[in-house]
Amino acid sequence: HDLRAPIASVLGLNSLAEDTADREELDTVLAMQREALDRLDLYIRDVIDYSRNKRMAVQSEDVCLRKIVDDCMADLVYQTNYNKIDYFIEIEEQTCIQSDKLRIKIIVNNLLSNAIKYADSAKDNSFISIRAEWKEKGVTLIIEDNGIGIKEDYKDKIWDIFFRGTSTIPGSGLGLYILKESVKNLNGEIDFISKEGEGTTFKIFIPEQTV
Ligand code: ADP
Repeated sequence: HDLRAPIASVLGLNSLAEDTADREELDTVLAMQREALDRLDLYIRDVIDYSRNKRMAVQSEDVCLRKIVDDCMADLVYQTNYNKIDYFIEIEEQTCIQSDKLRIKIIVNNLLSNAIKYADSAKDNSFISIRAEWKEKGVTLIIEDNGIGIKEDYKDKIWDIFFRGTSTIPGSGLGLYILKESVKNLNGEIDFISKEGEGTTFKIFIPEQTV
């Protein structure tokens, strides 16, 4: 796994920028630098989530899912595809459970950013639906998209560290691995269905933490 790739490309682009007096060329170089830095930023965020999940004890606090989803959406507005998608959020303000805010944020953020990232550009009715259902001992969070879907052959690989189903869309291959670890720490359950070309639905059961 090439951690230094984005840095090497920013440095290379810097040399190009130093050698040009052409404004248009400079703009192109700057856009490419931004892209490489965005990639690095995403990667570093994933590594930070990984380390937090690994070392911090599971908390039991009041976690309101609607607020977590709204905050997370606000962080994702600049992501590619964000504006092409219709969002349906069916979570009431009072859907709050005793659980661990940090892990729930990691779960919501990874599922939502993937649903946005893997939207299908061939469709003009892209949507993401986010729902929460009360269960006897917790809440099930359901995130559905009509994006590109997951190939049958990849379905048991998506949880592996560094697994990537595509090389054309940037990513670290860490997101679902960290998500799986976070759900495990909460004693939760994961389920998903996906069909290539049609879309993907993830269901995460988050149990109430009893202390
Ligand atoms: P990354 O997105 O950085 O590649 P993840 O661990 O988050 O890493 O996801 C692993 C792979 O699972 C992705 O490369 C992609 O192929 C697939 N995937 C995850 N979520 C979705 C989704 N909502 N729709 C389609 N494919 C997905």
